[in-house]
Amino acid sequence: MSSHHSNVDAAEIAKFEALASRWWDPTSEFKPLHDINPLRANWIDDHSQVAGKRLLDVGCGGGLLTEAMAWRGAQVTGIDMGEAPLSVAKIHRLESELDIDYQQTTAEAMADRCPASFDVITCLEMLEHVPDPGSVIAACAQLAKPGADLYFSTINRNPKAFAFAIVGAEYVLNLLPRGTHEYSKFIRPSELAGWIRDAELQLEAMIGLTYNPITRHYRLNPNDVSVNYMVRAHKPL
Ligand code: SAH
Repeated sequence: MSSHHSNVDAAEIAKFEALASRWWDPTSEFKPLHDINPLRANWIDDHSQVAGKRLLDVGCGGGLLTEAMAWRGAQVTGIDMGEAPLSVAKIHRLESELDIDYQQTTAEAMADRCPASFDVITCLEMLEHVPDPGSVIAACAQLAKPGADLYFSTINRNPKAFAFAIVGAEYVLNLLPRGTHEYSKFIRPSELAGWIRDAELQLEAMIGLTYNPITRHYRLNPNDVSVNYMVRAHKPL
């Protein structure tokens, strides 16, 4: 267990604990997650047809994607190390009348308990908050059934990402609280691809989520992974 616990950054968890009560307020600090939620949920469902499948949402927070997947008919488990985000997720689950299994645990600990259990695994906007993202990806690979689809999203690390994701989002547009993201923890696509390969998964697709500061809209953009992006990987049969 000690090695698992070392892959949790208490300061990162604390950031989300402090904001958790506003998780479902679409005008709050979580507005960006609300805005991208339908885009990413559809991207996942279009390929993986989640209805009836066992899906694990790693770092689920207050449950935005978790619920979107349950609405689409998946049999969902959501895990997070934050207590307050999970409480919010559980309260919202009552309002939504959805059947979701929420647990306070890490991907690594869960992988020991239930390997090869899920058809689809999602781990979105979480890897840039953990000390060792490769360990989370390896755990997700273990949790996946052979033939499963895995989805990861994060923020790229380059000057444009610094300008948009930190200066723009935290200082100019005030979309996110200052200090939400640390530049050094951002992840280049090549690094993410390396961890995916190390976990013996196949990288299948990569797509950008681009933000237009004038229209204030996000869109999926296959030609621009320079700031926010998502990938799909496959666990071979
Ligand atoms: N995936 C959600 C929430 C992203 S916010 C979404 O995209 O809508 C990041 C979440 O990761 C927070 O809720 C935080 O508590 C959680 N988190 C950070 N480190 C974690 C870890 N090591 N294990 C599990 N959850 C973690």
